[in-house]
Amino acid sequence: MSDIIQILPDNIANQIAAGEVVQRPASAVKEMLENAIDAGATHIQLIIKDAGRALIQVIDNGCGMSPTDARLCFERHATSKIRQAQDLFLIRTMGFRGEALASIAAVAQVELKTRRHADEVGTCITIEGSDVREQCECACAVGTSIAVKNLFFNVPARRNFLKTNTVEFKHIEEEFFRIALIHTNVAFTFYNNDKMIYQLMVGNLHQRITALFGNSYKERLNPVEENTQDVQIKGYICKPEFSKKTRGEQYMFVNNRFCKSYYFNNAIEKAFSDLLPEKTYPSYFINLTVDPGKIDVNIHPTKTEIKFLDEVIIYAILKSAVKKTLGQYTLSTEIEFNTIEGLDLNPAPAPRGYVPPSPSVKVNPNYNPFKTSAFTDYSQVSNKAWENFFEPSNAAGNSNRCIIDDDATQQELFEKQEKADDCDVEINYSGVVQVLNQYIVSAISSGLLIIDQQRAHERILYEYYSQQSIKEAASQQILFPVQCSFSAADAEIISEILPDLRDMGFEMNTLGSAVFVATAIPAEVKESEVQTLLNEIVEDYKNSLMQKFVDKQKSVALSMAKRLAVRNGKKLKQEEMQNIIAQLFSCKVPNVSPFGKKTMIIMKDNDLTEKFK
Ligand code: ADP
Ligand code: MG
Repeated sequence: MSDIIQILPDNIANQIAAGEVVQRPASAVKEMLENAIDAGATHIQLIIKDAGRALIQVIDNGCGMSPTDARLCFERHATSKIRQAQDLFLIRTMGFRGEALASIAAVAQVELKTRRHADEVGTCITIEGSDVREQCECACAVGTSIAVKNLFFNVPARRNFLKTNTVEFKHIEEEFFRIALIHTNVAFTFYNNDKMIYQLMVGNLHQRITALFGNSYKERLNPVEENTQDVQIKGYICKPEFSKKTRGEQYMFVNNRFCKSYYFNNAIEKAFSDLLPEKTYPSYFINLTVDPGKIDVNIHPTKTEIKFLDEVIIYAILKSAVKKTLGQYTLSTEIEFNTIEGLDLNPAPAPRGYVPPSPSVKVNPNYNPFKTSAFTDYSQVSNKAWENFFEPSNAAGNSNRCIIDDDATQQELFEKQEKADDCDVEINYSGVVQVLNQYIVSAISSGLLIIDQQRAHERILYEYYSQQSIKEAASQQILFPVQCSFSAADAEIISEILPDLRDMGFEMNTLGSAVFVATAIPAEVKESEVQTLLNEIVEDYKNSLMQKFVDKQKSVALSMAKRLAVRNGKKLKQEEMQNIIAQLFSCKVPNVSPFGKKTMIIMKDNDLTEKFK
């Protein structure tokens, strides 16, 4: 029998390879834009007609090619970007396989014009289904222009497989976004059917995002930034309320290359966790910069998946960076309270050890809607309510207090926020009601404010106990010291977190053999619950040890907040509700509980109008 194996001619081999690289017009757009970026272009024009079926042209002002390179670039595995195998591990360019142009030229009619800065004349090449039709000198600008006409003209099956123009255009636009978003130092112009649809100036990421997605994104974006040895994170997340019903706006880049990572996406979604309305996805634009030697971009032919060496570490850093941003910036900036009438402003004597808080939320007792007047320091008002906050007839004579965070940065933060709002915050106390023994409802000038009492109080207590030194203010001496005993292992933990417990107002000494005696306890704590509270603190701390970054003080503060917060289901007095509102709004992160749950909902007038439709 004769031999039957034959080497495929190049044009057929190229066509087969093209199937992998060029699935639709958008794939050609991606490859061509990437080549222009790799060529160092500072201005790139993308021109398409008929959703890329009739024409895809990319014109750049990059380095251009020599006449020989212009011919060679259409050969398979022809690349200027890697020379040896180890270069594969240090890739800094977008492309490196040397397959794209060969593949595109195999399934389209391509016209290339290119000139290097040093050359007098440029080169023009026409190639059709891998056949070079013409190569000549030509006059052209420095850089490269590649026009791809009649894509899949020789592969009808592929051509028929394409979706509607709308769909194909969307794919092209998406590829354009993925490249334009991250290359903010490059100007882009995008023409669709002779109409300019995007013109992007050189700028920063924030400007690029708003140029692409619209000015409404200005108020949605919050910066994420983290610099560690393993990874640098830089970018923006959209506030949770602007999350999307689909995963559309999730842009993750690694070393300026768009990448899809289910794993890192999960880190971000975990960070958002309970802040997201159900079945919605957060929007983000984040670039990770990592040592190129620690990633492998080679695992997927179209290179949107990347393998990382340190992915567990990066996961944790990314998640905590996003969490940090969510905590810092999700301050509610839309609240504007109505004003009170006839509130009793006589300050009651401050409870022992109480440090007057910085003025934060203000009320105006003589409100005249037609005239602006001076505001009274709300802290004076809140003193009045201290005495009977939650447990008015505490046997020990110590009210269960909830204390306004009084650190200086708090004040600054609030001032900043106030400036941003350009309005003073006024509370309409007369209009505060409790609903279902769980929600505190108040009219505000933009609509309706609904607060979850337990979560709000958790937030207040958490921030209070997270302060550095609250010892003095927090502690109450107890007449009969309370003895608490633990298992040997738990006693070790108590010893470990003893300094943090002291900071929060516990004065405790060990009696040896796993027994501690408390001589002073935080003002909010009842003597009878000291043992249970400490048990819970130890339990929570043990659980938090399972996680990566344990902050002892934070863990204890969380336990205290969880344990001591007023429960849902408890009927509250007017003053108690007023205090919750006032103190919540002097928190650093008023709108999320320390466990990541919403503390409040604001129904604006248009939300209400919507409901009545
Ligand atoms: P790769 O980008 O993987 O190297 P391509 O097939 O996309 O492979 O391109 C082949 C080569 O052609 C590139 O390595 C580069 O040298 C050259 N080239 C392609 N496009 C351009 C361009 N716009 N400007 C300058 N050189 C280019
Ligand atoms: Mg390329």
